[in-house]
Amino acid sequence: MQQKNIVQIMETLKQVYPTHTKTTLNRMRDKPDAFRILISCLLSLRTQDKNTEIASNNLFAVADTPEEILKLPVKKLEKLIFSSGHYKKKARTLKHVSEIILKDYNGKVPDRREELESIKGIGPKTANIVLAFAFGKNVLPIDTHCHRIPNRLGWVKTKTPVQTEIELGKILPEKYWADFNAIFVQFGKTICVPISPKCSECPISQYCPKIGVTRRR
Ligand code: SF4
Repeated sequence: MQQKNIVQIMETLKQVYPTHTKTTLNRMRDKPDAFRILISCLLSLRTQDKNTEIASNNLFAVADTPEEILKLPVKKLEKLIFSSGHYKKKARTLKHVSEIILKDYNGKVPDRREELESIKGIGPKTANIVLAFAFGKNVLPIDTHCHRIPNRLGWVKTKTPVQTEIELGKILPEKYWADFNAIFVQFGKTICVPISPKCSECPISQYCPKIGVTRRR
């Protein structure tokens, strides 16, 4: 029964949230460049997609390799990525990540999760986005939306995104993995929002036990 609902829910959400053309990162899957995807993912943290796009475009017009980012004066880098927010911290992360990739990986973004996560500033979600979007690996990038919503749906009962990735990996059919993050991020930002989700407008409300939802619209 649960498996049936997963398929029905994924098919419904796929119709409502067509992927690949919506977010900056998803559009990058069509012409994957691992370094650009990694940098855009780092810029996308704690900001809206439109800001990620502006910052990515500004930066890539000037620098889109580890060497070029390292050569940029910090103040100039901060200015280029200003729209992404937390620009000082992000500039430091971009410099560090570029330096390690150049020094330890010969300028190429590594395609193994352990190596990516060993670089300060790259967490599990960013690593999985890079593995999935740049290298076509079958992994589940889990952010706050991808953690919260499967718990509300009763698919998993987990406390952390890492646990969610493991448990979801056991029940979500693999054909949905590539688009799962993009669909759930869009759904989590618009309908199944963190506080007071819009259950009355939700296209999958009939399947949802609304676990842990105390206030809803
Ligand atoms: S019914 Fe409500 S809690 Fe369930 S998925 Fe939809 S918006 Fe989220």
